[in-house]
Amino acid sequence: MQHLAIFDLDGTLVDRQSAFNDAVTGLCRRHGFDTTAEQWLLTQLADRANASDFVRLHAAFDLDASPAQLWQEYVDLMAASVTCRPAVLEGLARLREQAWTISIATNGASDIQRAKLGATGIGELVDGVAVSGDLEVRKPDRRLFELAADRCGLDLADGGWMIGDNPDGDIGGGHQAGLRTIWLRGRPWPDDLPDPHHAVDDVTDAISFLLTDHSE
Ligand SMILES: [Mg+2]
Repeated sequence: MQHLAIFDLDGTLVDRQSAFNDAVTGLCRRHGFDTTAEQWLLTQLADRANASDFVRLHAAFDLDASPAQLWQEYVDLMAASVTCRPAVLEGLARLREQAWTISIATNGASDIQRAKLGATGIGELVDGVAVSGDLEVRKPDRRLFELAADRCGLDLADGGWMIGDNPDGDIGGGHQAGLRTIWLRGRPWPDDLPDPHHAVDDVTDAISFLLTDHSE
């Protein structure tokens, strides 16, 4: 068994929700958007955002700024708002010290996910990154997990761990990709999914679990 740990990003290594609220508030204030437009953004972008959402925003509210400009500002505001707790960064560094290879498998647009990885410092602590926007395939599709391993020069067939908060995308997908899984509790667990190998309340507990007992 190789020491491969693939992490989800949003809701696992970073708190997307608080960054999202700050970014939407900042964008609306900067452009003087009314509460209807702000509510539209908070609803439509609740799970994830990409450039096409800002084409729809532009059309729905007849805005002056171009969709491309609004998207870029949103990406910049998200990158400025999102943080990764020092304990999580330290945990990733410790994994690498102990010969783990770390990859990211995240659903989202390539530019915003990479901006978040760069701004938080996570990007410097991982060996590979697979963003669904790179391939136009999303977790739970096996191909995104394959890409995450491949970007580190490893083979998914040699196994590893998937750590994430989404039952279907991260845990169901990881299981189908032949990985062992650690679930960050929070969302309801679907009845039809196989149980994760381990469950934790915080990603630092998942890292401790890998460091202590489960490198093989
Ligand atoms: Mg997530």
